[in-house]
Amino acid sequence: MICGNKECAKDFEPKTHNQKYCTDECCRIATNRRIMEKYYEKKAIRNGSIRPCKKCGIQLSRYNQSNYCSSCEKKLDIDLKGRLMGMINEIS
Ligand SMILES: [Zn+2]
Ligand SMILES: [Zn+2]
Repeated sequence: MICGNKECAKDFEPKTHNQKYCTDECCRIATNRRIMEKYYEKKAIRNGSIRPCKKCGIQLSRYNQSNYCSSCEKKLDIDLKGRLMGMINEIS
């Protein structure tokens, strides 16, 4: 069995069938790292660096304040205008 802690990766004899790490310390380090990775992932999303377009799923730039990429934004704009025009036509 190879220790699940990447920095350790020591070959060890597991005492239990579900033991993934050679020591409690390695378990703690690996768990902490997983938590930190999740944390940074969430932080990156919050900062807007990894955001997909809600329509086509393309990665948005952090400078794009919208939930859509520029090409989808254009299409949506046209759709919206078209719908508004339709509504206006219905009223008049
Ligand atoms: Zn280890
Ligand atoms: Zn898009």
